[in-house]
Amino acid sequence: MACIAISFIPWIVYWVLSGLRNPLGVVLAFAISLALLAWEVKSRRVNFMDVTSLIYFTVALVGTYAFDLKLFVEESGFLGYMVLFIMAACSIAARNPFTFQVSKRDYPEVYWRDRMFIFINNVIAIAWALIFLVNAVMLFFELPYAKAITITLVVAGIIFSVAFPLKAPAYLATREFRRYDWKVEVDAGEPKEEDEYDVIIVGSGIGGLTCGALLSKRGYKVLVLEQHHQVGGYCTSFRRGGFVFNSGVEDVSGLWDKGPITYLLKELGLSREELFVRNKVRYIFKGELIDMPDNLDELVKKLSQMFPSEEESIRAFF
Ligand SMILES: Cc1cc2nc3c(=O)[nH]c(=O)nc-3n(C[C@H](O)[C@H](O)[C@H](O)COP(=O)(O)OP(=O)(O)OC[C@H]3O[C@@H](n4cnc5c(N)ncnc54)[C@H](O)[C@@H]3O)c2cc1C
Repeated sequence: MACIAISFIPWIVYWVLSGLRNPLGVVLAFAISLALLAWEVKSRRVNFMDVTSLIYFTVALVGTYAFDLKLFVEESGFLGYMVLFIMAACSIAARNPFTFQVSKRDYPEVYWRDRMFIFINNVIAIAWALIFLVNAVMLFFELPYAKAITITLVVAGIIFSVAFPLKAPAYLATREFRRYDWKVEVDAGEPKEEDEYDVIIVGSGIGGLTCGALLSKRGYKVLVLEQHHQVGGYCTSFRRGGFVFNSGVEDVSGLWDKGPITYLLKELGLSREELFVRNKVRYIFKGELIDMPDNLDELVKKLSQMFPSEEESIRAFF
């Protein structure tokens, strides 16, 4: 989300030079937003705010140089913030907050439809809409310290855009599960007899083992009880005739860079690369061996080649 600061570069140049009554600010801002958008089009990551900036600076350039209008230089603050407010409000009303494109750069596609991801983007977009509106109003009425306050609000907005996505998910998840809290006072530091434990976990499935590992990491003495001859529950495997069979789990989600399992492994001091291998899936269909690609685009392509009459439905499904 720190990338949102980049979108402000043309605006900062425009506002600083316009504040000095220099119309070159319009030209430079236009050039920077054009370069920014060209780079985004090239990398297929077009940002709604940068499109708005380019449209505004094109109009400002034509107005200032072709029609000799002073408006875009003299009222740069009010006009700019008003345009940005309208852009933010329209994106929220269209249920596509303008911060989406920036967030999508930071998080893999698997998160994009997540309730929390959408909520966080809506909150940040609303915060920006309010900042833009307050700044426009303050500059329009030329309120005392208006310029200093507008700069402070933009800096606060950038800090909020970076900090909120980092802190909010954990805070909201903790709040959601607080009603299940079962508080038992246990002192991890207290000396224990050999057969005395802080926590006893019944069942060594992935849930019990994870819980035990996290508690041990925090210094608790933990006993995990298991009825079966091996640990892991459904997350285990067995051998028959030279083959390894999964008891249940064959695919673990959440191992991408900012994924929950990666986070958990880090917390436990374990290495993702040493514990996991990339899954390979092969189907035998009508006697034909089909190796499934691990990339969604390739998968859609492959399925479409296999079932050309279903191509439209396959694309719609994914
Ligand atoms: C066929 C199948 C395929 C699946 N595939 C996937 C997948 O690909 N990816 C994925 O993420 N999830 C998958 N899942 C879901 C996943 O297996 C479970 O969510 C997960 O393993 C549950 O872990 P758990 O620790 O809660 O319970 P379990 O794995 O069920 O472990 C419970 C453990 O407790 C022990 N136990 C129970 N009662 C007692 C007792 N009284 N005393 C002592 N021990 C006891 C059991 O023996 C067992 O070892 C699959 C599930 C199934 C059934």
